[in-house]
Order: sequence, then structure tokens, then C-alpha cells
Amino acid sequence: MKKTILFNLTKNELIEFVTQMGLPRFRASQIQDWINRGAPDFSVMKNLPNDLRQKLSEVAQTLPVTIVKRLDSNDNQTTKFLLELDDGEQIECVLMRTTYGNSVCVSSQAGCAMGCKFCASTLLGLKRNLTVNEMYAQILTAQWELRGDKFKDIHPNGDPNNNDVSHIVVMGTGEPLQNTQNVIGFLERANSELNISWRRITVSTCGIVPGIYELKAWGRPINLAISLHAPVDELRSQIMPINNKYKLNEVLDAAFDCSDSCNRQLMIEYILLGKKDSNGETVLYNATPEYADKLSELLRGHNVMVNLIPWNTVDERDFASISGNAVHRFQDILIKNGVHTRIRRERGADIGSACGQLRLKNNKK
Ligand code: SAH
Repeated sequence: MKKTILFNLTKNELIEFVTQMGLPRFRASQIQDWINRGAPDFSVMKNLPNDLRQKLSEVAQTLPVTIVKRLDSNDNQTTKFLLELDDGEQIECVLMRTTYGNSVCVSSQAGCAMGCKFCASTLLGLKRNLTVNEMYAQILTAQWELRGDKFKDIHPNGDPNNNDVSHIVVMGTGEPLQNTQNVIGFLERANSELNISWRRITVSTCGIVPGIYELKAWGRPINLAISLHAPVDELRSQIMPINNKYKLNEVLDAAFDCSDSCNRQLMIEYILLGKKDSNGETVLYNATPEYADKLSELLRGHNVMVNLIPWNTVDERDFASISGNAVHRFQDILIKNGVHTRIRRERGADIGSACGQLRLKNNKK
């Protein structure tokens, strides 16, 4: 028998559920308190009798995601969760503890249909969109990791212990703008129930133009990130099939329009890729000085920040990471051309933290 996922029930449905088990109504509130804090199972619910916890675990589960595996990076700041959904699909989410707060990287789909040539997430294709609850439960999983069974105190000026989720990046597996309405529903809820401010939320897209306009119409001052990865259509189409549908200029026009309309800086993601030549030497692919100049031409004069991303190696993919020197040369050209840029620190490379790597590994076993 399938277990009932209590997080998916309304308060009234939960009351009915406990009543049917012959329990008093107040048990529903107790259970809901725990679930809202991200309790992964019933064993942690200290104010319920032992036999009740046992009984509940036989017929129900707390969240619509269960932890299959967790990996802690030896940077001591990054934890990656492999989570299983109700139908057996697996997704990933990553908790990054930083000096400015705790950020969770959320998946928006199980798998991905976009087919980007450097990415692991898309190798097994798209399985399905995630629901609002499945995205929200990723945040709760991270929240439990940070705070555990400690009750949430309200600190008017922020939490001095820094143990709340403060930032959300929708940059995990999947293309959020193929699942826009659920992503919006999830973010509305994270904003209203967890108090995560719009300015600490980032949605990253490979460039689905109608979806970008949907975000603009939604009108919340979130951060938009565009996975650009190439400054000319010919090159971009080679590594990102979506570029055959929405061309660079169209994507950037929509993106500037969206970020300008809520007065936010646009984030551009640019993975620096190399290739092995016939001698096994790494040559620059999208990371040549010429492409740095082309990228500057596209962006100069706009309110943008370019995130240069070292490529996380994916064995199945035919690219190579480039030297630190080559990364800096690329960055220097952007800076010289007046384009804001920074190099994204690699996090959790040792735990397969790039999009979809863990899910892929687990699927091959
Ligand atoms: N589909 C969305 C969000 C998921 S990908 C998008 O395309 O933006 C999140 C970011 O990780 C994207 O910029 C993506 O291009 C990048 N990425 C994917 N595989 C990577 C890898 N192996 N190394 C580094 N970055 C990667």
C-alpha cells in the first residue's frame, strides 16, 4: 500500500487522517509543526508516543521527498541530497553554507529535455515536472539539516545563528521555465511562509523566451540568470539545442526587459569550456579571447554580472576544463571592456555537485 504523504494534506485532511486512526485532533497540529520544520520521518517527533510514531511510519510519510543519499563536501560547507519522489524518480538538491547565508539549489524537473552538450542532467531525458510541494520540500529538507528539531525563533534583524535557509537558486536539474507556473507557486510560498525575500531568489534558464516574459508579468523582483555559454549563435547552437528555437538576441532582449522592469541586475552564466585536440592537449572552446570580446559587445552598457563557471567534469561529455590562467585571461578581457564579472567558486566538485551528476551515477548502478 502506498503511504500517505502528510505534507500534501490540508489541515482539515490531516485532522481527518488522525481522527481515522483513532487519535485526538491535537495530534494533527503536533505532526504539522514537525513537518513544517522539515522532519524527514516520524522517529524525530519527540512529543508523540513511541508506538504512535511506529504506527504512523507504517502508513504515512512526512514529506513528498525522502533522502536516499547525502554527500558532504570536504569544503565543509556543501551538502548534496539525492531525494526520491513518490513515483520512484530521483532528484538532487544542494545546500551551500556561505558567509552571506544558506543557499539551496533546487531542482525544478526530474531530468531535463534541453540537451545541453556539457551537462549531466539531460543525459537521461526529461521524466516530468516537479510539483510545488516537491520543490518546497527540498527547502524543508535543507532547513531540517540546518536547524533540526530546534523551534524557529523569530529574530527581527535576522537569525544570529545563521541557521535558516536565506537564499534559493532554482539552478538544479531541469529547466524551470518549462515548469513556470509551479516554480512561481513554489517561490510565492517560500516568500510568504519562510520569509525568503525576492531579492534572495534566483531563477536560472537556458533561455525560454516566453517563460522569461511570464516571469516579467509575474513582476516579483527576483534575480534572473541566463545560461549563455556562448556569445554567437553558431557556437551556442552547437552546445545548446534550445538556441535553434530562441536566438541569442531574442533571449537577451527578453532577459534585459525582465530584469530592467524589476530593476535587478541580470546574471549571465558562462561555463568556460575546453576540448582535447588530437594530441590530447586542451584547447579553448568557448573561452578564447575573441569570444571574450564578442561577449563584451553583447553585454556592454547593460546592468549585468557575468558569472564565469569552471566546468565540472562530466565523464560522458566531450569537454575539458581549462586552466586557471585561461579563466583569468577571459575575465580580464571582460573587465577591460567594462563588463562586471566574477569567477564562481567551485563548490562540492568532490561530491558531484554539478547538475545531475549524482542522479546519473545512481541510475547507472
Ligand atoms: N536549466 C537551467 C537551470 C539548470 S542548470 C539553466 O540552464 O540555467 C544550472 C547551471 O549549471 C546552468 O548555467 C548550467 O549551464 C550549468 N551547468 C550544467 N552542467 C554543468 C557542469 N558540468 N559544470 C558547470 N556548470 C554546469
